[in-house]
Amino acid sequence: MENRDKFAGMNSIKFNQYFKTEDDCIRYIADIKWEEGYTCRNCGSEKYIKGSKPHNRRCLKCKYNESPTAGTMFDKVKFSLLVAFHIIFKIATKKKGMSTLELSREFDLRQKTCWSFKWKIQEAMQSSLQHPLTGEVHVDEFWIGGPEEEKRGRSLGNKKMIVIALEVMDKGVGRAYAEIIEKANSKELGSFMKKHIDKKARIVTDEWRGYLPLKKEYPNLEQHKSEEGKNFKDIHIHIMNMKGWLRGIHHHCSKEHMQGYLNEYHYRYNRRNHLGTTFDLLLKRMVKNKPSRIKSTN
Ligand SMILES: [Zn+2]
Repeated sequence: MENRDKFAGMNSIKFNQYFKTEDDCIRYIADIKWEEGYTCRNCGSEKYIKGSKPHNRRCLKCKYNESPTAGTMFDKVKFSLLVAFHIIFKIATKKKGMSTLELSREFDLRQKTCWSFKWKIQEAMQSSLQHPLTGEVHVDEFWIGGPEEEKRGRSLGNKKMIVIALEVMDKGVGRAYAEIIEKANSKELGSFMKKHIDKKARIVTDEWRGYLPLKKEYPNLEQHKSEEGKNFKDIHIHIMNMKGWLRGIHHHCSKEHMQGYLNEYHYRYNRRNHLGTTFDLLLKRMVKNKPSRIKSTN
């Protein structure tokens, strides 16, 4: 069934040749939307005729005229689809993505407009939860946005605690996920691990007591002395890099917004060796996922 033409690669000249007009973009969206066949959004019928505009489809039964963007994250976007595709391409393929300030300069849009679109992209970047981490997985927590002396207290003010899990291999590291938590207790650490780590994984944490009760659910959980981080070198490098990136883009952002950035960071990070396919994947998610109901205020 999957025979639509997909854009792949990171070459912006090729991207510009592939998507030249608004029609190129709307056709691409239509191809994704109906790649498994057509079903009327209104009545569920599977028969259609041409709609009122190119690429629209009109239900034969109830006459509902559907545009490719209806019911997708591209619904009611305030600028052209060509600009939207360019933004998605940059965010998907640039190593560090692009801040809303950079986007607003490059595409001549208000920063607020860029922010609400980027928020949708970040939503599409959240983990599908279909591929939990496996093998050896290191787990740790850290603070962001405030003095860092304290450890494991309650999240206060603008400071946020983040739990992170990283696959550690013989040579190098694999994928990673991170989430904001209120407290480093077994309930919150456990719910993060349940979402993102395979039950059979060999999990390595430091000796924090919050992890102790989780040994029941994760028989392969081991607690090692941190030795001032020596035993957790890989995860500390990951944290350092992520903090550097976050510092560059966020100042005062809410919990939800911060989670969006963590999702964005790891969407790219987990696909760092095949960034050429991330544009199509991201676009597909933005077409298939329901439009965001969250109003951005940042
Ligand atoms: Zn219908």
